[in-house]
Amino acid sequence: MTGPVLSYLGETRLELGPLDGVEPTGNWRVATDAAGITWLGLDKAGSGTNTISEDVLRELADHVERIETERPRAVVIRSTKSSGFAAGADIGGFSDLEAGGAEELLRQGHDVLDRIERLPCPTVAVIHGQALGGGFELALACDRRILITGGAVGFPEVRLGLHPGLGGTFRLTGLIDPTEAMTLMLTGKTAHAGKARKLGIVDVVTEERHVAAAVETFAQGDAPDRATGWKARAMNLKQGRQLAARQMRSKTAKQAPQDHFPAPHALIDLWEEYGDDPNAMQKAEIASFARLLEGDTAQNLIRVFFLNQSLKAAGRGDSGISRVHVTGAGPMGRDIAAWAAIKGHHVTLGDVDASALGAAVKSARRTCEGAHLSPAQTRDALDRLMPDPRGYGVPRADLVIEAGPEDPDLKAKIHADLVARMKPNAILASNTSSLGLASLADALPSPQRFAGLHFFNPVPKMQLVEVVSHDRTDADVTDRLAAFCGTLGKLPARVRDYPGFLVNRALTPYLMEAMMLVDEGVDKETVDGAAIRFGMPMGPVTLADQIGLDICLHVAESLRANLDKPMAEIPGWLREKVDKGETGRKAGKGFYDWSQGTPEPGDAPEGPADLTDRLILPILDACVECLRRDVATDEDQVDGAMIFATGFAPFRGGPMHYARTRCTGEVKARLEALAEAHGNRFAPDDGWSSID
Ligand code: NAD
Repeated sequence: MTGPVLSYLGETRLELGPLDGVEPTGNWRVATDAAGITWLGLDKAGSGTNTISEDVLRELADHVERIETERPRAVVIRSTKSSGFAAGADIGGFSDLEAGGAEELLRQGHDVLDRIERLPCPTVAVIHGQALGGGFELALACDRRILITGGAVGFPEVRLGLHPGLGGTFRLTGLIDPTEAMTLMLTGKTAHAGKARKLGIVDVVTEERHVAAAVETFAQGDAPDRATGWKARAMNLKQGRQLAARQMRSKTAKQAPQDHFPAPHALIDLWEEYGDDPNAMQKAEIASFARLLEGDTAQNLIRVFFLNQSLKAAGRGDSGISRVHVTGAGPMGRDIAAWAAIKGHHVTLGDVDASALGAAVKSARRTCEGAHLSPAQTRDALDRLMPDPRGYGVPRADLVIEAGPEDPDLKAKIHADLVARMKPNAILASNTSSLGLASLADALPSPQRFAGLHFFNPVPKMQLVEVVSHDRTDADVTDRLAAFCGTLGKLPARVRDYPGFLVNRALTPYLMEAMMLVDEGVDKETVDGAAIRFGMPMGPVTLADQIGLDICLHVAESLRANLDKPMAEIPGWLREKVDKGETGRKAGKGFYDWSQGTPEPGDAPEGPADLTDRLILPILDACVECLRRDVATDEDQVDGAMIFATGFAPFRGGPMHYARTRCTGEVKARLEALAEAHGNRFAPDDGWSSID
């Protein structure tokens, strides 16, 4: 949930009607008010957030059964938790299902929602915060929906490789313009209050204090009937749906190719075939959802959901960090400072170059806009960010982040100046991406309070931060840094000092192999196309341009110098390109021309048969090396880090999971064959033998 929604909810008292003060039995609170209206309050036991689990639905079925005989004037369904209506289905429950179990469970869930729909009295869902996935489907089973200002509804299932499975497909397409309904389900985007009202998903958007009056209006049956638009009528005809489905398919295929993301395509099929027959669509929805759930894509994306949760858990706890000083207002330092200020920290930002500080303030305003902050929130965030050319903030900071140029001598000088002024317990963290922390620590009087805090570019977008410890870093320091990442809404991966740490160690061979392929005469579009077909968010050549060819070169040289393994040769023309200033996106020209915005590589000729393996397997091999060297803690951490820092094909579940899916013995043999054909840089790491 977004910050603004939370802060809004924090100030608002929920209008719970007769539920106020009622103790929950199981996951629900139930009471009937003096006007004869029964209120069902969802209050999922043992959790701060409501999810729609098997027990929630089972208990709901019991309450509905009683309501069927008691015949109240109306029924209200709402959440009694301040965190919102419901975050969706209980994803944990999905992973426990036995084969075939999904259909049975879904049928039971559908039965409850169908019975709510058939109740003879008016039924009203009151939604505050978000109603997502299964929560939204519960609200759709009611006759009317009241949305509290600031709330939102949506179907994020496609992000888990699924489509709605509790009636959402036919209820939403039956309620509003079906093409709008399909767009919501296909994109997984949420509809905020204005849009939800405009589309006709909700009947009313109002404040909590007006809930009782709105409920009474619906209980009296006073609300006007909804009109069916011409588009909905046209889509009742198969030809109309076929035409619309064709357009949806071609648009979807560009964003989510069917081989990798079957769910949106299954959803289009479902609607095209059964869009005029809710009963048939219901049956087909259950079967299709169960099929998708058992497929690799959904299983891997559900895995990614849990990887995210476990990295998030590593960022819990009290950081004890409130004041932060950032030294170096280049692209990284200024974004780190702005982000920390947005997230509530008091930040001072130093640089030897006054113009860098001026640019940083301008860029912070843009970062606030990008984070959708209101004018008041932007003002508060900018108030918390102080340009500090003389470093007055250093002695007061709990954490000092050094984001100076990637030069070991200069960094050592900056560190010496900082530690002489820092307060005794403060932490010094470097954002270095390629320098060894141990040698930087050698020059410090308190190496135990020094660590790496490796943010990725662009800071506001990239979720992962590597919290890097060297041999002398205190465990308490890495705990506090990880918790600090948590306060920034980032996912901390605790890794150990190693050339490139984890992420750059694993990503660099991929980028360098792309350079080797271009050097061999393979089209850059062909190289990029192979990676995209594998499922990477962009090709390695585009990525290198995006990162900056100077930075890639620097990291590659540093890895070549510091690893005891052969790495790809760095082509001489790459150095020349960098020397000429063709450093990629930031210069407007690198491999691609960026002067007109992001390049869109066109069709390219087929590449060599081993092209994809040459790009991807070195990533897997480097991950195995990092595990063998204890750079990363376990395979899940490696997979999470690579997905959330580089976008490694999420539907494959991460590089280690992909290696296991493909069979580790087969991957090792393939690396041996590549080493034979192309050189020793492909020789499999010793760690493969200890991976069973
Ligand atoms: P940069 O070289 O563009 O900017 C560094 C800033 O530090 C400049 O504004 C410079 O004026 C300032 N500076 C120089 N000497 C200083 C001193 N003595 N005291 C205070 N400030 C001083 O670097 P960047 O791209 O912002 O990266 C900063 C760090 O983050 C580097 O260590 C880099 O390796 C790392 N990093 C960069 C990226 C990236 O994509 N750019 C990603 C991750 C990590």
